[in-house]
Amino acid sequence: MKNEIFTVSLAKNPVISLKVEPGHFTTSHFHAAHYLDLNNLKTNAFLAKEVAIELALPYMSTTLVDTIVCMEGTEVIGAYMASELLQEGTYSINMGRDINIVTPISNANKNLMIQSNKQDLINNQNIIVLVSTVSSGITIGSALEYLSYYGGKIVGISALFNAYPEKQDQKIHSLFTSKDIPGYQLFRPGECPMCKVGLKLDAIIVHDGYIKIHCFD
Ligand SMILES: [Zn+2]
Repeated sequence: MKNEIFTVSLAKNPVISLKVEPGHFTTSHFHAAHYLDLNNLKTNAFLAKEVAIELALPYMSTTLVDTIVCMEGTEVIGAYMASELLQEGTYSINMGRDINIVTPISNANKNLMIQSNKQDLINNQNIIVLVSTVSSGITIGSALEYLSYYGGKIVGISALFNAYPEKQDQKIHSLFTSKDIPGYQLFRPGECPMCKVGLKLDAIIVHDGYIKIHCFD
């Protein structure tokens, strides 16, 4: 199988791009024919800032924000997003306010938790939840449930990539969706066409990367 990496750029700001690697991948829930490398957008300060400017746009003039809850390594983007929302300007509804960045921890069952001393930043606060990828919606669903339980008011959800833009109950502001990636599809392990033709798995997708289990050639 040929694994030619290609790049997909954001039409309105092409400096923002992601690398797409075709192959046979597995996550804990799905098999996929593509691996999306979003790392650069999260760790490179220049790119993270560009991403943050785009992600802040839908909230700029309309949405009061107190806290950005950053999951899946999105803290750098979250900080730039806060700075963008707070900047002076005619359309800046958050100007002069405070915005805090909270990074949850997760327990052994991968459930989200917020440290007790940070719960004031959730209770009765206007919250944007920022994630890297929305695929099954399970992670985001349990995060919203948890934050609501602790009295947080969710005013927006933002993601770098949304695999199922039509399927979610909530509006998710995402940079890229599966429509931007030619042929992108997720499969339940039992229904994966690559497995059905006996194709070996190339790698396991883990947090912020993948682990090869089969030589790419
Ligand atoms: Zn498969």
